Amino acid sequence: MLSDVRAFNQLQMAYRRAYWKNDRLMRYRDLKLREIVRYAFDHVPFYRRKFRDLGINPTDIMKKDDLEKLPTICKDEIRAEPRDLILSNEYVTKNLRRLSTSGSTGKPLFLYVNDFESELRKAKHLRANIGCGQRPWHRWVNITAPHHFAEMSKFQKAVGLFTPTPVSVFADVSTQVSIIRRLRPDVLDGYSSSLLLLVKKLERDCVKDISPQFVLGGSELIDRYSREYIESVLDARFYDQYSTVEFDRIACECPKRLGYHIEVDNLILEFLDENNEEVSKGERGRIVCTSLFNFAMPFIRYEVGDIGIPSGELCTCGRTFPLMKMIEGRRDSILVTPDGKQLTPRTFTIAMSMFEHYSLIDQFQVVQEKLDRFVFCIKLKGYISSIKEDLFKAELVSHLENVFGFSSKEITFEVRFVDTIQLNVGGKLMAVVSKVRSTPN
Ligand SMILES: [Zn+2]
Repeated sequence: MLSDVRAFNQLQMAYRRAYWKNDRLMRYRDLKLREIVRYAFDHVPFYRRKFRDLGINPTDIMKKDDLEKLPTICKDEIRAEPRDLILSNEYVTKNLRRLSTSGSTGKPLFLYVNDFESELRKAKHLRANIGCGQRPWHRWVNITAPHHFAEMSKFQKAVGLFTPTPVSVFADVSTQVSIIRRLRPDVLDGYSSSLLLLVKKLERDCVKDISPQFVLGGSELIDRYSREYIESVLDARFYDQYSTVEFDRIACECPKRLGYHIEVDNLILEFLDENNEEVSKGERGRIVCTSLFNFAMPFIRYEVGDIGIPSGELCTCGRTFPLMKMIEGRRDSILVTPDGKQLTPRTFTIAMSMFEHYSLIDQFQVVQEKLDRFVFCIKLKGYISSIKEDLFKAELVSHLENVFGFSSKEITFEVRFVDTIQLNVGGKLMAVVSKVRSTPN
């Protein structure tokens, strides 16, 4: 309860910061940067080693521009470090919340957040939604993974009125449609790919009575065609929220449609060119982020893996957070099962991240070999005995059947241990690939 009250206070403060004058915001940001850099140096062996190797002291990093003195770090580098070296020595992992990425490359990363960061993340969610026009009395439906159900309700109950009704991302689209029709949402929220599948079903079945005031998508990049399609079928605005598991919300689209407001009061976002120099306004750059509050596991100059464009425009909505534009995501292929059920690649990566032994996996790839046959290629982090291998396989198959609601008669899940994961034809690492009929979404 105490944590919920704190989260509510965080929301109030976070909401006000979005309207602070630029000078005040930048002073606040640089103060928080100095704090996290000093903290990482004092308490996180990984950063202490890096700073020492470079001959840099925390006092050399006083403001955002000083960050260029530090190298950027990437996911593989963090994954390769022993946990003790990337976590603060002030925390015990059992007191932290563990999160895992379930990204499109099939390379899991585990990260840890303390209570403050957890509360801040919840406050950020609500701030973003309120910024898009959500009001306390709105009926709010969220298509999400079941493991997020519990964590939402506790906080939102404390806030009072912003309480989403979750719908499982794994439920069949027909089931989702019937639940959502009954709920009559004002705000429809979810993974962009799941929203797209839902909307396709609505159009096919001529369902007209789901009419939210607006739609909130996120967790994956969406292309313009898909966004416009969702808007036309639902006759509602679609607002995208750019987020990653490492940083949570990074930038959120504003109803004025001039771009995405960058969350500069809790992270520093850099757009870098091939020489690691900041690009000019309007130019494309690699997105590199520094979290200002994740003391349990600091991320300083972390390569997010996306491309964005800093904007020089000021927004007319009154919020002072700077704007950026996103580079559109590619259109993923939808996977189809023998009975015509459609599944997004995202559902597979989420299902994997929910597996009890996910932490043993170094890398994975899901391959749809036939309409009714999915092979899960697993590269483990280390050796396990053949008995444990058999147990692992049986437990993973049972987990997948349970999550997707398939019986082994309908769909075969096979688990195969491999030493390397294949790249696709374009040389990209893909977590989910299909060798059979698929439809672009
Ligand atoms: Zn705005």
